[in-house]
Amino acid sequence: MKLVFLSGGTGTPKLLRGVKNCEFSVVVNTAEDLWISGNYVSPDIDTVIYTLAGLIDEERWWGIRNDTFLVHEFLNSLGFHELMAIGDRDRCTHIIRSEILRNGGTLSEATKILCRIYGLSEIIFPMTNSRVTTVISTSEGGMHFQEFLISKGGKPEVLNVRFEGLEDAKPLEEVRYKIEECDAVVIGPSNPVTSIYPIVEIYRKNLKRKFVLAVSPFSGDKPFSGPAGKFMKALGFEATTKGMIEFLGDILNFVIHDLRDSPVEFPSLRTNTFMQSKEDSERLFEVVLKVISEHV
Ligand code: GDP
Repeated sequence: MKLVFLSGGTGTPKLLRGVKNCEFSVVVNTAEDLWISGNYVSPDIDTVIYTLAGLIDEERWWGIRNDTFLVHEFLNSLGFHELMAIGDRDRCTHIIRSEILRNGGTLSEATKILCRIYGLSEIIFPMTNSRVTTVISTSEGGMHFQEFLISKGGKPEVLNVRFEGLEDAKPLEEVRYKIEECDAVVIGPSNPVTSIYPIVEIYRKNLKRKFVLAVSPFSGDKPFSGPAGKFMKALGFEATTKGMIEFLGDILNFVIHDLRDSPVEFPSLRTNTFMQSKEDSERLFEVVLKVISEHV
């Protein structure tokens, strides 16, 4: 079985931790990328790399387990504020990526090199090499996704979410090919607005031709974690699995959602989708695999 995952930086990586017995690649959201202290940080790509390399900090779902923060703390003591706390080892990933970009390489080339460095085959792809930036319009003005989440603690009222550069973002040929040749596409339980929508917009035509299964990030009328609910409501959708189905539209063929959800009028299956351990992830992935083998 050949699968393509569409991923953000928390829910889908949790599911990826349980993937077995299949060939797969991962197309990752890059609309939350930003330059920090001279280095290009691609938070979702980093989390996917660290997850598949077995290095992810499973408490926070970002950064490397047991990393130190000496540089970040010393910068702070010098009065230099970094938007995100960057671990020392994590920063090395950013330095390597940024050197490749500064020397004229692309984000997809840098990602391939990082995959090799971390002992992975080249299965992780940025959604595009074009620059796309999520801007959250709030009652306090427009701001970068990370500023909304980290500096403002996700608190301001959200009025709208827009994606600068998305209309002109170029698909990657190799991602198109991966989607074309796979048996099914799995949209992991990532934020439908800020993590999944940008990828879907770039590859909508290709996705329409495939069996696409989504695992819902909602349980009842709220997400398991994070601001997905606020974003869905700002765009006029319910913060539920039903809302996600309406929002992602005609590319979806099947949804797996939580037992605590109400049934939806859509091809679907309910199971426990809360992944607290690797075993939970493995069990949920087995359900995903079973549904796909029954449909393709
Ligand atoms: P981000 O890039 O860090 O925003 O992360 P993602 O978009 O990949 O994932 C965020 C989503 O993961 C949130 O909407 C959560 O509801 C969802 N999520 C987190 N943990 C779980 C879980 O254990 N099960 C499910 N089904 N969803 C989860």
